[in-house]
Amino acid sequence: MLETPEQTAAAELRFDTVLIANRGEIAARIMRACRDLGLKAVAICSEADRQAPYSEAADAFLCIGPSSAGKSYLNQDAILLAARLTGAGAIHPGYGFLSENAAFADAVERAGLVFIGPAASSIATMGDKIAAKRAMMAAGVPCVPGPDTALPDEPASVERIALEIGYPVIVKASGGGGGRGMRVVPEADQLQEAIALTREEARKAFGSPSLYMEKFLQHPRHIEIQVLCDDHGNAVWLGHRDCSMQRRHQKVVEEAPAPGIAPDIIQPVGMACVEACRQIGYRGVGTFEFLYEDGAFYFIEMNTRLQVEHPVTEMTSGLDIVQAQINTAQGRVLHLAQRDVTCEGHSFECRINAEDPENFLPSAGVITHLALPQGPGIRVDTHIHAGYKVSPYYDSLIAKLIVHAPTRAKAMARMCEALAGTEIDGIATNLPFLRALFEDDAFARGETDIHYLEQWLKLRR
Ligand code: ADP
Repeated sequence: MLETPEQTAAAELRFDTVLIANRGEIAARIMRACRDLGLKAVAICSEADRQAPYSEAADAFLCIGPSSAGKSYLNQDAILLAARLTGAGAIHPGYGFLSENAAFADAVERAGLVFIGPAASSIATMGDKIAAKRAMMAAGVPCVPGPDTALPDEPASVERIALEIGYPVIVKASGGGGGRGMRVVPEADQLQEAIALTREEARKAFGSPSLYMEKFLQHPRHIEIQVLCDDHGNAVWLGHRDCSMQRRHQKVVEEAPAPGIAPDIIQPVGMACVEACRQIGYRGVGTFEFLYEDGAFYFIEMNTRLQVEHPVTEMTSGLDIVQAQINTAQGRVLHLAQRDVTCEGHSFECRINAEDPENFLPSAGVITHLALPQGPGIRVDTHIHAGYKVSPYYDSLIAKLIVHAPTRAKAMARMCEALAGTEIDGIATNLPFLRALFEDDAFARGETDIHYLEQWLKLRR
């Protein structure tokens, strides 16, 4: 898929050192990709992460600030200074933190460095959900019914829009993310209050009161399409994932491919995503997220970064998505035709979180004992080890358990084995809950919707 060694040697490389502006499992994952590509890697940390195990593989390791993310992993000036001090030519933002911050991407490029991600303008368009919806409609990507404009202020106009869409509707913050800034409105009499609350939330959390409205789909699945694009107009989609197993709009288990979706149904959607990428001049990796209900796809948003769940697509496509992403940022030509993208077998990912399995409160502390599963078709992406101190400052994701097998049923059985072979003591984790979920009959049959997990959790109480 990449250039031959001769072509590579001839091509002018844009950078030979990558600064990884992130932490945890994804910092370790990016480090591995840099190593495999023969690039030097710089790791950064906050005071809480001084013991980060990936520091050992790094060519340089700098503590850039105090434990709170705002003063370290979100501190743009400190990160740019670290890049300058270490001679890094590129910055990989990972996911979360500054990964979808257009101003940061812009600052990186203005500092003469390469941002490993799309152009700042692509991030800005997709970060504004209304602009994203407009761009997708223009490119022929199917969207959730509802206008591609911000909600007006006058109550009467808003009521008219809701009636046109038909209740139930969902009010969403244009700048929202992470499952926050949205509210379902079942009936007309709850509309004005829902708008006032969401607007206030959006103003506080995202710095913009801009809202939009769309149809609330009642039993959709969350299906997403992974794309990979270079700087030379080449774009492919690498297959689809099902991320319907969610709690509070947060994904818990992901799988590839999405079960029960015929190729002739998904094919046009994948091609529309590729076309949209060409139209907006997209570079690098990205994900188009869709709701899928009654055989139809509805675009909800595009993530302009590497995603937590990228490994399930790596397992089924046989491609290294992180390496490919770095190569596109390097300016290399993507030599991968759509017909060469295949999907072999089935893959699941479980997010292992440091949290109480009953009340889901985060759990911090020292891991006193750790056993991770091994064997064919099992992969663990993590940064933890026995003696590692899980800090309360960051996201609770501590490991990703990924399996691959020839069929979905075999992949489920393999995940059951892998979960049984995982032991993490000293802190609470969601492992008991994941083990129970992988014994569930409806999940085993496949095609459960985005509400399934929360209903399942309620029934277990
Ligand atoms: P975020 O950027 O916060 O992740 P998304 O727009 O991707 O927000 O939506 C997150 C989740 O919210 C979806 O996976 C889905 O569960 C739910 N959701 C969003 N829009 C709708 C909708 N129109 N109808 C039903 N559920 C929705």
